[in-house]
Amino acid sequence: MEYNPIKKEEVSKMSVMPNLLDYEKAREDFRWEDISKELDELDDGCLNIAYEIIDRHAKTSLKDRVALYWEGDNGEGEEYSFSDLCRLTNRFANVLKNLGLNKGDRVFTYGDRIPEIYISLIAALKAGGVIGPLFSAFGPDAVKDRLGDCEARFLITTPKLARIVEKVVEDLPALEKVIIINRKNVAYELKEKEASYEDLMKNASDLFDIEKTDKEDYAIIHYTSGTTGKPKGVVHAHEAVVGHYATAKYVLDLHPDDIYWCTADPGWVTGTSYGIFGPWSNGISQVVYEGGFRASNWYKVIEKYKVTVWYSAPTAIRMLMKAGEGVVAKYDLKSLRYLCSVGEPLNPEAILWGNKAFGLPFHDNWWQTETGCIQIANYPIQDVRPGSMGRPFPGVTATILDENCEKELPPGKEGHLALKAGWPSMFRTFWNRQELYESKFQNGWYITGDRATMDADGYFWFVGRADDVINTAGHLVGPFEVESALMEHPAVAEAGVIGVPDSLAMEVVKAFVSLKDGYEPSDELRRDIKKFAKKKLHAVACPRKIDFLPGLPKTKSGKIMRRLLKARELGLPEGDTSTLEE
Ligand code: AMP
Repeated sequence: MEYNPIKKEEVSKMSVMPNLLDYEKAREDFRWEDISKELDELDDGCLNIAYEIIDRHAKTSLKDRVALYWEGDNGEGEEYSFSDLCRLTNRFANVLKNLGLNKGDRVFTYGDRIPEIYISLIAALKAGGVIGPLFSAFGPDAVKDRLGDCEARFLITTPKLARIVEKVVEDLPALEKVIIINRKNVAYELKEKEASYEDLMKNASDLFDIEKTDKEDYAIIHYTSGTTGKPKGVVHAHEAVVGHYATAKYVLDLHPDDIYWCTADPGWVTGTSYGIFGPWSNGISQVVYEGGFRASNWYKVIEKYKVTVWYSAPTAIRMLMKAGEGVVAKYDLKSLRYLCSVGEPLNPEAILWGNKAFGLPFHDNWWQTETGCIQIANYPIQDVRPGSMGRPFPGVTATILDENCEKELPPGKEGHLALKAGWPSMFRTFWNRQELYESKFQNGWYITGDRATMDADGYFWFVGRADDVINTAGHLVGPFEVESALMEHPAVAEAGVIGVPDSLAMEVVKAFVSLKDGYEPSDELRRDIKKFAKKKLHAVACPRKIDFLPGLPKTKSGKIMRRLLKARELGLPEGDTSTLEE
């Protein structure tokens, strides 16, 4: 395909001049050290994300700029300037320090997208804590696994979710304090270990000496699913903010007057890297919407706040397509100037639909929890190549490696997508699993776990996962995790879990189960197993479909052959079955 840069005349017609005007030159000149210099490091070369995203702006003319436009579930709106956030996060940092937080302690949040969750996360970074944001849709086991794995000391949650925490608090000996945000002032009786956010904040000082963290000090943990075992804690250091800042500037193309909206929840890395750090390190105003997906509500948010830059995900875009252009027409969306998407392959039809519905294409970009920031992207200066993830960010080197991850493959050949190790927001370890971490690197390349091709112009094209991990609506689900949860049901003898195609969510989780003696397949049992799974897993990880089988195909060593289940389900060739158990 021909490489078609936008010509100078066309750039001059754009409503805003892109921050990245010459991709080739940027690739040649780019130095991460130069980007670091744009950030205002603390004294003695220390670096703290919280300082870079909030405090440094609160000292300049940006102090009164609205950092956060918060839109509540019921249409209530609140505004917080950079200086408001500086003051409030100082207060909560004092709260945490007064409760005995030491540098490096893990502080988790478990709540909906309300301002206090954002304040808590930033305050914990200020105090030197390592933050772990959780989705509010998590069930008790998901909370227990994550907090237990990294021995979290503090948890900030809400009355509704505290009922879930209660079920597992006995199993979390390291957890010392559960702080309850009760913004609606509902009747709630504090239990042992619990304290009121509002009471603690009332008595805390507005002044705080930010912890002088080193750029290598750990800052963030996000748990991600792999093929085997429980989710792993992907750990990022404070230096990650250099990556968030640079990519928000050059890929999301944020400009001082932008009103930006990232639809992701902080429970997913996109909701922290680009729902907190990227925009605020650039001093940009952003919208946070508490509510869930509904096309009309989303358009209302864009109209009300005059959103200019919008970052979302393919499943959401497909849902907007399903809702139709009729809904689009009811709202004034002309403030929009730039659209981006991440998380799953973005179908060319979705890009074309964006063009039709909003007069703008969605710009796909690719990255992962482990990479911390965008690695491959379509840029405003270049034509979107529908179906391609785009080209590597200027400070990033990407390649396609052969089956053994040894040799780089030429354009057009499919292989393992790999990145030259060493960008600032690269993960620093898997919590307590250093060996597993090291196994992800080979000859200086980080092996991403995705398969892809690169074309002759250096554009990357996603092919699929190299492992069994399922991507449903942009959430990675490890089949093992789901199988383990299903096996805890008294009727289930064995479980095998795969992803099956879905027109909206790309893939949905399907389970095959064999039953213990004395149990018979029935719709009622299927419903009961689904209900059981819901209690154990994140909602998206729950099997949408369950089939009963008399036995599951296994290797001679006893491993369930998911590949075979999938081939049979989709009517594909079964491939090599030589290791299949008789
Ligand atoms: P997560 O770590 O949960 O953000 O998931 C990262 C994974 O999502 C990647 O390894 C890919 O498999 C998938 N992914 C993310 N962005 C894209 C994209 N633009 N196109 C295709 N797959 C993507």
